[in-house]
Amino acid sequence: MAHSSSPVIISKLPQVGTTIFTVMSRLAAEHGAINLSQGFPDFDCSPDLLRHVSKAMNDGHNQYAPMQGLLSLRETLCAKMNRAYNVNYHPETDITITAGGTQAIYSAISAFIREGDEVILFAPAYDCYQPAIELNGGVAVWSTLKQTDFSIDWPEVKKLINHRTRMIIINTPHNPSGTLLKKEDLEQLEKITKGTDILVLSDEVYEHLVFDGQEHNSVCKFPGLKERSILIFSFGKTFHVTGWKMGYALAPANLMAEFRKAHQFIVFAVNTPMQHGLNAYLQNEENYNSLSAFYQQKRDFFLDGIKGSRFSFRPSGGTYFQLLDYSAIADEKDTDFSIRLTKEKKLASIPISVFYHEPVNTKVLRFCFAKKEETLKRAIDVINSI
Ligand code: GLN
Repeated sequence: MAHSSSPVIISKLPQVGTTIFTVMSRLAAEHGAINLSQGFPDFDCSPDLLRHVSKAMNDGHNQYAPMQGLLSLRETLCAKMNRAYNVNYHPETDITITAGGTQAIYSAISAFIREGDEVILFAPAYDCYQPAIELNGGVAVWSTLKQTDFSIDWPEVKKLINHRTRMIIINTPHNPSGTLLKKEDLEQLEKITKGTDILVLSDEVYEHLVFDGQEHNSVCKFPGLKERSILIFSFGKTFHVTGWKMGYALAPANLMAEFRKAHQFIVFAVNTPMQHGLNAYLQNEENYNSLSAFYQQKRDFFLDGIKGSRFSFRPSGGTYFQLLDYSAIADEKDTDFSIRLTKEKKLASIPISVFYHEPVNTKVLRFCFAKKEETLKRAIDVINSI
């Protein structure tokens, strides 16, 4: 028998296909659909930010940045953390600039998760957590958020904890549900991790998109959590530049030292002129403090437009995502319904079942409202016609 010469591959991620964001954005483009699926703004960032970055390039800041990131940028960000949350992070030892939130999350998981370590996460979850855990030999242990308010079942979490639990991943404001963790949630987390060696990975990339006067409960405000947490932030979300893939991670020095051991061999260092440009732009606090009002106005415009439609919803509390429930309209699976909506009605969204580890029967789609008013207007017309 002839032997094929190609090697036999046993996939490390047998269940994983292409991410839903790429799939839906491609489908939207193929069908000329309005794309409210993948989360990104369809408007440009501030010309000031572009000017700062161009200046950095023209000034010759085009070689490697330090592995940890530009010190001036790290100083600016630690001062910002201090003003916002009254916490101390040291710019030399407690922060690293990363190539976006996803890379920071990967670095954190690969730095700390060993073969057989258990990581507790909450479904629905952003899609990069589980593959990162599994590529590093870890085991994802799931707790499902409560229907319909997406709150955490803390007594269940407590039962899932054992001597193999190495990390708990939380995300607030939460993608895809748009809910926020409350002070009491973080107090619960602080209580159940007290005296353990469990780390917390806190994905806070939507920290500046919080609505209706609510406050963002960063883990760093809770002393018992700060000492065990790696916090993840994103410039893409805050400054409308998702394509730049820029973010940062914060943690106490002992954790950050381990994070950097992995980070330096995953990416070494990140984009130098962007770091200079972002540092200059961050000097004006208004550039990020105005963001919640800016996005709340978009959320309200969108929801006001569709309040007479057959979709039902609770207003998103944060992020730039809004869930819409279509159970009064159709009985089909959310994956089928969202594909049909894209092809037939020319409106793309994300079915939320893809954020679960097991089949679910939710009839809910996620829509991104980080869009120009004219785009939202067109989407509103489609939604009202269904
Ligand atoms: N965070 C964005 C979202 O949830 C997408 C990021 C990506 O495409 N990887 O839609």
